[in-house]
Amino acid sequence: MTLTRLARLREKLRAKGLDALLVTSLPNIRYLTGFTGSNALVVVLPRKAYFLTDQRYRQQSKEQVRGAQRIVSRTTLFDALREHRLLRGGRVGFEAEHLSYASYRLLRRLLHGVNLRPVHECVEEIALRKDDAEIALLGMAIRVTEQVFDRVLSLMRPGVRELEIAAEITYLHRRLGAEGDAFEPIVASGERGALPHARPSSRKMRNGDLVTLDFGCTVAGYCADLTRTVAIGRASRRAREVYRAVLAAQTEALAAARPGMLARDLDHVARSRLEREGFGRYFSHSLGHGIGLRIHERPRVAPRSRERLEPGSVLTVEPGVYLPGELGVRIEDDVVLTNGGCRVLTSAPKELMVL
Ligand code: ZN
Ligand code: ZN
Repeated sequence: MTLTRLARLREKLRAKGLDALLVTSLPNIRYLTGFTGSNALVVVLPRKAYFLTDQRYRQQSKEQVRGAQRIVSRTTLFDALREHRLLRGGRVGFEAEHLSYASYRLLRRLLHGVNLRPVHECVEEIALRKDDAEIALLGMAIRVTEQVFDRVLSLMRPGVRELEIAAEITYLHRRLGAEGDAFEPIVASGERGALPHARPSSRKMRNGDLVTLDFGCTVAGYCADLTRTVAIGRASRRAREVYRAVLAAQTEALAAARPGMLARDLDHVARSRLEREGFGRYFSHSLGHGIGLRIHERPRVAPRSRERLEPGSVLTVEPGVYLPGELGVRIEDDVVLTNGGCRVLTSAPKELMVL
């Protein structure tokens, strides 16, 4: 599997006229070689690939890394690049989104005679289409996330703080077999629900609140991402009206999602529905994003995205409406694009739950 990924990457290098690619992003290194540690470099050459790490990862890299020759270094990895003379000249691509300016300057000093060229999202383009094994891992992460959702529902009642629920989510992710949080859980109650990326606070839930829960775990590095908005006690008419509009927009977008369409057209499906419902100006973010080894990856499903959706991509569909000082509603599912349309991977109920 990883061999095919490296082979596809080599084809891309040829197409871009590069003699080598230096991979520095850890999720990309994991994607290409299987390595899960915190310090590594990968050098992809036309006929060979090298993997470099430090002494701490001697045993782990031996067990994990496939498809590349391993070098375990006693020096910094950039020094090891030079000592082993892995890059001796020609056009060498580096990951423009993932190499700091300081590291770039250091590389330029260390690698004389090498023509360093910025490359944009080279590995990410290959990772856009998930294979069956990746979709199975995403499915496992989603299953755990939904079990956690089910359990925290029983803890939500007036008087409980947002932070307590967030702590339970983090605890339960690991307790139920995941590696941990894919991102810091969002628990936003009452008027705090109007902040799309609220950090959990010490606010206590009250009767009549809507509460937005947005969280997900990782399994083998793959990230789930689920949002549901629930009511504590009876919700106001206004709250129910907003909820129905968001659900309608999400349902329409799920029905429309298919490979071949422009990502911005999918965004438009949900956005125009919310506009018709009178809430368009309160939908303040993009409709969705890809998920995989990163919680936010391509495709970007946004009003100005130029991308075309591809079969095998896994992405979120998450419209929201945020009424400042009042309330917020967001509903988020994860879908995989299939030949005919899309398959929804998440299955948590979507009618407004009153707890
Ligand atoms: Zn989310
Ligand atoms: Zn999301």
